[in-house]
Amino acid sequence: MDYKASDNILDLQYFGEFGGVNPSISDSSTYTFISAKTMSDTFDGNTEGCYLYSRHSSPSNLYLAEALAALEGTENANVYASGMGAITSVILQLCNAGDHLVSSRTIYGGTYAFLKNFVQKFNVDTSFVDITTIDAVENAITPKTKMIYCEAVSNPLLEIADIKALAALAKKHNIPLVVDNTFSPLSILPAKLGANIVIHSLTKFINGTSDTVAGVVCGTTDFCASLKDVNNGAAMLLGSTLDSYRAASILKNMRTLHIRIKKHSENALYLSQNFEKDGLRVVYPGLASHPSHFKMKQQMVAEYGFGGIMTLDVGSLDKANALMKLMQERNLGYLAVSLGFYKTLFSAPGTSTSSEIPMEEQEKMGLSNGLIRLSVGLDNDINRTYNMMRKCMIDLGILS
Ligand SMILES: *Cc1c(COP(=O)(O)O)cnc(C)c1O
Repeated sequence: MDYKASDNILDLQYFGEFGGVNPSISDSSTYTFISAKTMSDTFDGNTEGCYLYSRHSSPSNLYLAEALAALEGTENANVYASGMGAITSVILQLCNAGDHLVSSRTIYGGTYAFLKNFVQKFNVDTSFVDITTIDAVENAITPKTKMIYCEAVSNPLLEIADIKALAALAKKHNIPLVVDNTFSPLSILPAKLGANIVIHSLTKFINGTSDTVAGVVCGTTDFCASLKDVNNGAAMLLGSTLDSYRAASILKNMRTLHIRIKKHSENALYLSQNFEKDGLRVVYPGLASHPSHFKMKQQMVAEYGFGGIMTLDVGSLDKANALMKLMQERNLGYLAVSLGFYKTLFSAPGTSTSSEIPMEEQEKMGLSNGLIRLSVGLDNDINRTYNMMRKCMIDLGILS
């Protein structure tokens, strides 16, 4: 891949008011107009260079959106108050009552619940498929299908979507491919592989400090404008607007994203390789044992590695819970949901972030009870961490 996402982010140059090295934060919800005529033009959609009201757009949110469009290599982007704010806006924008969509069955629990339960209010129906089987995806497409939805690296099972193949399929059926890339910023660039719309929960790696909830939609200028259309834009009307202060702080954190992703990936690879050698069942796209290891290698940007998320199966929920408790006591990380923090975060997805998915469906998709998801932190000496984690496992009889 010759698209240099990091350079594009770092090359953006914004001066603040008074020549500050960071852009000024716009501390206003509403904006003045020189004349009533410009105000009415703005309402008519001619917003060039004009700010109207901060639910529609604000300078700070536009700076952040520009950096995110530079990350994904899309024409434009809109930022939101959460990842779910971004996801729900896209789905409601593209689907009308009676429509259908095809989604991967291994997706974020909140997205799954939205598609499975919430959009039924609008008679929108979803077929959940194994996204790694292109035939299954194609077979599920009907004349009413409005999009193919997936995660580049899925939560929590770390399945890898073949973005090029899915994009070709979407194109053939003249529908958009929508990819949630939250798990793999920089390492996978879905839009460069043919995806039409790329979504992130900025809450995770991109912000990286676990202090904020936010999201983004990256796509064409037309699509981004449609989302904030004052008459029928889902984002404008649902109102999940990101606050300017938060937008400014996420933008500052984005400037170290490339360094952080490399370190998260390096540490996760080290732990995965060593725990696999110890005989544990480890799932990590960087291991040759991962079913989509070669697919991942083909479509990733090599320098950023295989990402910071891995799973360990320790056999039972009781063992998983005991291990997470002990690792937290020994300060190896936190028993917490979410990901992308400097500290390792661990949770048992079956009873937490994927608990929206019914038990029998969890079993069907291979989400076992003893599964622990780790978002590996930025530990400086990962060998020390490995030895300390291993000691926890020995003390609990998980390893001998
Ligand atoms: C966390 C997450 C979301 C939801 O994002 P929020 O910012 O919590 O609303 C969506 N998709 C994935 C893959 C996530 O990990």
